[in-house]
Amino acid sequence: MDLYSGHINKLIDELSGLPGIGSKSAQRLAFHLINMPKDKVNKLAKTIIEAKENVRYCKECFTLTDSEICPVCANAKRDHSTIMVVENTRDLAAYEKTGKYEGVYHVLHGAISPMLGIGPGDIRLKELITRLEGNVSEVIIATNSSLEGETTAMYISKLIKPTGIKVTRIASGVPVGGDLEYIDEVTLLRALEGRVEI
Ligand code: ZN
Repeated sequence: MDLYSGHINKLIDELSGLPGIGSKSAQRLAFHLINMPKDKVNKLAKTIIEAKENVRYCKECFTLTDSEICPVCANAKRDHSTIMVVENTRDLAAYEKTGKYEGVYHVLHGAISPMLGIGPGDIRLKELITRLEGNVSEVIIATNSSLEGETTAMYISKLIKPTGIKVTRIASGVPVGGDLEYIDEVTLLRALEGRVEI
């Protein structure tokens, strides 16, 4: 027997498909949405659709942005010869929040995971290698310290080494398995400053 109306069930179903939303949270959100004023619901729906339609990948670093080139890549004051490789746009945001990193980024959108069947061809690695044909003096690998992050770091380092470009890995001050976005700015800066050549 269905406890709720078909529409509410459908809404709960859609919401519980989102990351971090269990069935209880999905129910709470669904009822919250139903009780919200109609104009607020419309605004939320419109915001989601507009974000989906207008957000794209930066042509250079592949972060998510509203324009062809993201503000970091478009900034001539940044050091374009230093590229920090991160797993996702959230990690980029975490480093940007420190306000201390002056180089540019490369967003992989994932990490190599043989267990999940994610190979080097499934992340933005080819694009990184293409960027190295330009004037690059250092590649800082700032993937997470999870098994996938370490596997990816190792793979990238082996790939870049023959080019003679300096490859560094952020220090292991970052807790094992810790998502970069949850780590405080001081720890992030320490990890960056303590990076070692690999
Ligand atoms: Zn960019």
